[in-house]
Amino acid sequence: MSRQIDIFAEGAQRLQMTESIELTIQSLQAYGESHDHWAIAWSGGKDSSSTLTLIMWLIDSGKVKAPKSLTVFYADTRQELPPLAIAAKQIMDELEERGIHVEVVTAPLDKRFMVYILGRGVPPPNNNTLRWCTRQIKIDPMQAALEQRLAELDGNVLMITGVRQGESAIRDKRIEMSCGKDGAECGQGWYQKVLPESKGLKGRLATLAPLLHWRVCHVWEWLKHWAPLVEFGDWSTATIADAYGGDEAEEVNARTGCTGCPLASKDTALDTILLNPSWTYLAPLKGIKQLWRELREPHNRLRKAGYEYLKDGSTAANPQRMGPITFEARLMGLERILNIQKEINDAADRLGRPRVDLINAEEETRIRELIAAETWPQGWDGDEPTADTPMDQINADGSVQPLLFV
Ligand code: SF4
Repeated sequence: MSRQIDIFAEGAQRLQMTESIELTIQSLQAYGESHDHWAIAWSGGKDSSSTLTLIMWLIDSGKVKAPKSLTVFYADTRQELPPLAIAAKQIMDELEERGIHVEVVTAPLDKRFMVYILGRGVPPPNNNTLRWCTRQIKIDPMQAALEQRLAELDGNVLMITGVRQGESAIRDKRIEMSCGKDGAECGQGWYQKVLPESKGLKGRLATLAPLLHWRVCHVWEWLKHWAPLVEFGDWSTATIADAYGGDEAEEVNARTGCTGCPLASKDTALDTILLNPSWTYLAPLKGIKQLWRELREPHNRLRKAGYEYLKDGSTAANPQRMGPITFEARLMGLERILNIQKEINDAADRLGRPRVDLINAEEETRIRELIAAETWPQGWDGDEPTADTPMDQINADGSVQPLLFV
């Protein structure tokens, strides 16, 4: 659908954009100039891609003084939505053409989302459990890459993130850790909070979120209409805005996250992508979220049969807790993801469209190895019953409620 042009609205929008950019320049001038080295944490999502391309333009156009060194860290979780991963690749090429080095940061093999779930058997995260994924596939690898980079540099480093909160939240002076605010990116708030306090970085790393005050409509405007212009750097960012619905994106306000994120109530970004005829061949990706839901069901998991004694002799607070995924369910999950990948890639080859890379050969081999080695997460040895086995109910206070029917 084409966008209706309202010259007054367009004019106001432009004015607001100019003001937002001006505030960004001021924050970079205030904090950036006292740091010789800058690092940009980039996820390929809308907020951090806007931050990255805007900063490059501000430096190129002389509006902001270039630091002595600039390193871009691309957080490749291996879970990115394919159109975003493809756009990130194009932007990486454009950065390399400008002589900017991009370091691709990925979690170690055994810690990657698919390997951890399907190989080790840890259930997919949900809103009631500790959310292990953000730290494990985003924060920890970024921390390790930064520590390594800091060891090579003298002086302090300014870590620039795409945290964005909109104006009302800024007045609260809070950085939200959650990824649901105003469609913000999962992980960015954590970079802002966790990294400067981590042991290897303490004292040498400051963080700055120069787009903190940007509203989501400014992000779309920049990615879709400004950054692709030659005068602003000729960036391949329109694909990112399109991935969230292009001109309709202002209404959609999609949350950026992994493909099939088990914590999001809906696959909003993926659903929007699938409305675009050139991406409809990615429809089998819809099966991923469904698979994560199934793998959390009792018949696919083990359960502690009774009291669980901890190392200090006390008992765990939640007797009969549900635990890891059975080998059969892990193999079923692996086959399902591989089939989704095959179905998409067969269609991609037929249509001359980009292929997807959900589980690569190295990851598949590792998943099969871990299953063959009968690997269980810590605290589980595999002889526990499956979680759908009827058993007397043991309550937290120690009382037992026997089974009514056997
Ligand atoms: S987007 Fe979802 S699955 Fe990905 S790291 Fe964040 S919470 Fe975890």
